[in-house]
Amino acid sequence: AHLDRIAAVDGAVHAFLDVAAESALATAADVDARRAAGDELPELAGVPIAVKDIVVTKGQVTTAASKILEGWVPPYDATVVERLRSAGMPILGKTNLDEFAMGSSTEHSAYGPTRNPWDLDRIPGGSGGGSAAALAAFEAPVAIGTDTGGSIRQPAAVTGTVGVKPTYGGVSRYGLIALASSLDQAGPVSRTVLDSALLHEVIGGHDPRDSTSLPEPATGFVQAAREGDVSGLKVGIVKELGGEGYQPGVRRSFEAAVALLERAGAEVVEVSCPSFDYALAAYYLILPAEASSNLAKFDGMRFGLRVEPCEGPVTAERVMSATRGAGFGDEVKRRIILGTHALSAGYYDAYYGSAQKVRTLIQRDFAAAFQQADVLVSPTAPTTAFRFGEKLDDPMAMYLNDVATIPANLAGIPGLSLPSGLSDDGLPVGFQVLAPARADVRLYQVGGVLE
Ligand code: GLN
Repeated sequence: AHLDRIAAVDGAVHAFLDVAAESALATAADVDARRAAGDELPELAGVPIAVKDIVVTKGQVTTAASKILEGWVPPYDATVVERLRSAGMPILGKTNLDEFAMGSSTEHSAYGPTRNPWDLDRIPGGSGGGSAAALAAFEAPVAIGTDTGGSIRQPAAVTGTVGVKPTYGGVSRYGLIALASSLDQAGPVSRTVLDSALLHEVIGGHDPRDSTSLPEPATGFVQAAREGDVSGLKVGIVKELGGEGYQPGVRRSFEAAVALLERAGAEVVEVSCPSFDYALAAYYLILPAEASSNLAKFDGMRFGLRVEPCEGPVTAERVMSATRGAGFGDEVKRRIILGTHALSAGYYDAYYGSAQKVRTLIQRDFAAAFQQADVLVSPTAPTTAFRFGEKLDDPMAMYLNDVATIPANLAGIPGLSLPSGLSDDGLPVGFQVLAPARADVRLYQVGGVLE
């Protein structure tokens, strides 16, 4: 049914870069056969899933939406994908994103943007717009996303779906094409909080192949989502995430959700995180710095595209330069240049060093806030889905869309976005819940009440 739905609507939505009908059907048939034989199957066996095309899949093209990886077939599965396969979940295909997950709208995909099913003239968020749009268009029931600065939560917000960025280290990064290794985290995207909890338990937990993987198992999420209990829970509204620059309709929807939590027995307090004003600036130094290093491996020799210089000698350096010149899009080049500059001798302390200090201040702000509240809440994004082209030529305006999601990545804490109704323009609004590191269970506790 999902493959039929994809065939019917994906021409307009363009959530998928590649549909793997044959292997999805084979997995489904295998699950059916095992069920008929009376095998005990994992809970999500047979539930189809879409996977963001920055997560490697063995034998199946993975491009990170970049020309530089066009046609690249990975020789191995990411841990997340391995776990989906052992859970018997058919993989429907790979979903669109901003090139190397850099962006907030999917307009930076080298293969054309994804459209928001709520209004095809609007963006589905980014970078994981493909996964979120696939859910909103009923092309898949659940999906895998990655969140470095909001790429799971912001697309969920603007498409009326649910997205969870787990605690850093809670889900293995093995087999994610790295954007910024200290910020990247894979997580579930779904239409309901309970579905995210179910998927989180499948993909989470320790992985010896990721040196930053946490030791504890991923449990308790499903139970927390089912119970949905906030009685006596202290909910902190972050003063810095919600004032100026947030659409009035977004603010109203946020306040209504907070009122709901209060009626369900939560105690609402206001907290202040003054360093958040510098989060965006710090993020857009740390991310490009790490990205410039991670993307150095795309040299025209090891993966995907290789372009030889049109004239002159064919040296390694000239092949590298021609390949990277042709293979990377504008936003990727912008960040590589920014990152290399921030890391260069003479500028390192002023830019990268200062940004790391701000990161510490943000972590301290969170620590202080979590002394006063069990969870923190804010709108996920300052606006509803914007129109194509609106921010494309203004990188700063595009970056500003991440103000509310970025602090969680800088601190490594978990965050969830769920729909909190529609704004005045009839478009969905996202409500963000943040919890201390390793307390992902609280996200589901709160989410279960609002669902
Ligand atoms: N929009 C943010 C950026 O462009 C977030 C990216 C992400 O989470 N992958 O960096």
